[in-house]
Amino acid sequence: MTGPALAPGATIGIIGGGQLGRMTALAAARLGYRCHVFCQSSDEPAAQVAAAATIARFDDKAALDRFARAVDVVTVEFENVPAAALRRLARRVPTRPDALALSVAQDRAVEKSFINDAGVATASWAAVPRRGDLAAALAKTGAPAILKTNRLGYDGKWQARVDRVGDAGAAWEAIRPDRHGAILERRVAFASEASVIVARGTDGRTASWVPVENHHLDHVLSRTIVPAPLPAAVRRRATRIGERLATALDLVGLLAVELFVMPSGRLLVNELAPRPHNSGHWTIDAAATSQFEQLVRAVCGLPLGSTDRHADAVMDNLLGDDVRAWLDLLAEPGARLHLYGKDKIRPVRKMGHVTRLLPLTDNRA
Ligand code: AMP
Repeated sequence: MTGPALAPGATIGIIGGGQLGRMTALAAARLGYRCHVFCQSSDEPAAQVAAAATIARFDDKAALDRFARAVDVVTVEFENVPAAALRRLARRVPTRPDALALSVAQDRAVEKSFINDAGVATASWAAVPRRGDLAAALAKTGAPAILKTNRLGYDGKWQARVDRVGDAGAAWEAIRPDRHGAILERRVAFASEASVIVARGTDGRTASWVPVENHHLDHVLSRTIVPAPLPAAVRRRATRIGERLATALDLVGLLAVELFVMPSGRLLVNELAPRPHNSGHWTIDAAATSQFEQLVRAVCGLPLGSTDRHADAVMDNLLGDDVRAWLDLLAEPGARLHLYGKDKIRPVRKMGHVTRLLPLTDNRA
């Protein structure tokens, strides 16, 4: 245990103003905590529901210091928080997760090395710090492969396919990762994509929800199926991988682990997110403790709650114009609608989600 638990009434600082912060703030409020959001504009989804908001840039040192004085603990709702900002906050207040977990999740080469060093498999990959390293990387991974920028890539952004060895130069030009370099990763013929979310408390205990199956549209999550229709042994392996990685990071908070499930049942880790994850939204409606409440419990040093689910579920993201169906969804018995308070609809923008509950099949991981 690192320090006493924070009692209800304390203030949780959340860095980032998106829907993950919004749902964290709502869960915190239910337990009697206040949230103070640090974000870029006052109308962001989390700022709309938080007790307080600091609207400033991450390089505004005075704003960071004021924020640190106003909160009892800091957590994040996105991983690309500049390291300097987090270090500055950490001088005054505990940050959970800490700089190590964020630095691993911010850089794909660091992340893949960390995963492999923890004894967990990924697709075959090679670092490509400079364009001149492409040929050596391709010799290691072979084609087809994917070139991914080291930093700030998400949801398939800043990625380019390398179908043949001759495509590598064009892939580099397409994403121009000159500043932070890239990694080249073998493209794998997975059977499905899955994820597992692990919570880890200040006492090092972990709790995980059942692994789920994820479907993407243009690289953006569109549907999560709970539980993943995988043999129980594969699900258990996914959970063990998540727990091993959360422990290796010495993380306090949540770790989402995205996995490729190979036709043989072998699991390869794609990437890590040390925060609530879109594939865990179903936990609000179908689990004893939601991922958002669990994050609050973890960062406040409280005992973790039960991750048992009381129903199977399918969660659909409402992307862009999908949200226009809100009235029909409200009228649908059993559909649980969540809207994020975003007024502008843009293509594939995450506007909300809907979870439909199904009879519980089996409750074993
Ligand atoms: P990422 O931004 O790395 O999460 O990748 C986004 C999506 O691209 C993944 O969810 C996969 O559908 C696909 N993808 C990424 N890496 C690979 C890979 N090595 N092999 C096959 N598909 C991949």
